[in-house]
Amino acid sequence: MKKTWYLLAFVFAAFAMSACNGQKAEEGAGPADKILLKDFAPVVVNNLPVTYVERAKFDIIDMHAHDYAATEEEIAQWCKTMDEVGVLNTAVMHCSWIGRPFEEYVAAYAAHKDRFRFWCCFDYTDMSEEGIQKACETLERYHEMGAIGVGELGDKGEGDTYARPGDGTGIHIDDPRIKPLIAKAGELKMPISIHIAEPYWMYLPMDETNDGLLNAVTWHVDTTNCLGYNQLVQTFENAVRENPNTIFIACHYLNMSHDWPRLGALLDKYPNMYVDIAARVAESAHTPRATREFLIKYQDRVLFGTDNGMSPEMYRTIFRVLETNDEHFYCPELGYHWALSGFNLPDEVLKKIYHDNAARILEEYK
Ligand SMILES: [Zn+2]
Repeated sequence: MKKTWYLLAFVFAAFAMSACNGQKAEEGAGPADKILLKDFAPVVVNNLPVTYVERAKFDIIDMHAHDYAATEEEIAQWCKTMDEVGVLNTAVMHCSWIGRPFEEYVAAYAAHKDRFRFWCCFDYTDMSEEGIQKACETLERYHEMGAIGVGELGDKGEGDTYARPGDGTGIHIDDPRIKPLIAKAGELKMPISIHIAEPYWMYLPMDETNDGLLNAVTWHVDTTNCLGYNQLVQTFENAVRENPNTIFIACHYLNMSHDWPRLGALLDKYPNMYVDIAARVAESAHTPRATREFLIKYQDRVLFGTDNGMSPEMYRTIFRVLETNDEHFYCPELGYHWALSGFNLPDEVLKKIYHDNAARILEEYK
């Protein structure tokens, strides 16, 4: 009797399972054949901790932002947001931002100059020897006006296309013609912040194997007539090696967050090299353990940066990634389809990345 009951229960359970699993779609007719990758917007079902970090755990020096505020009111609002989220001061980089001349933007932020740090461009208007000497004088003048660094320079293969007002096309960071400018920056103790290349998958074919396809579609790099990824990294390494008295900050982890050992090897080799973490949350928080290990190992060489506007929630997303142990959350606004997880960084590491490393580099300008 007992045996029969077990048998019946088994048959019933098997039937129930097959009923639940009986939705397998016909070949070619299911959602996988209809939903476009760009429309994929999964919602997390896991019952996991969700931590809202309203304010950073330690005071912050933001080493990477731009001239986002168009009016006096917007600048004041930005300061208010910085107070709320815990940012002491912000680097407002002049290059890479199509807008007002250096003098004008320094004037625009003058009323809040204790909260913003100015960065300027190299002037490539005249690339003759004489012209570069003049550009060195311009750099000195900008420095006297309050510029504490040079940047953001930007080379995605065609040269420093972020340059203002002169055209930097064809001028890579290891170009011997600009060596006097790099030396002058070192002499003035102005670090050079430079964006080199783009995330690696933006160079790969835009097909079904591309891990960053959603973003690569928008930002794909065509290297037909310009330097490729490894060539660009090489120009950067040449400049860092040949100018040991100038500090270089490789923005966005040198766009090398896909290969921490390679980035670590460069940092090991060149003590005048730093990286900032700006705008690379998605590119690092999908590999939280490897990134955490890297950030702990190179805790003295990493700088905080945002590069993503002025909204309070933008800052808080970064805090969540750096400070918490939250797992598997999506930030669709960052453009990828990966789930992110927090790094849960130790306090002493967090403090260095948020503040101490930048303060040490900029000590003479405090
Ligand atoms: Zn930037």
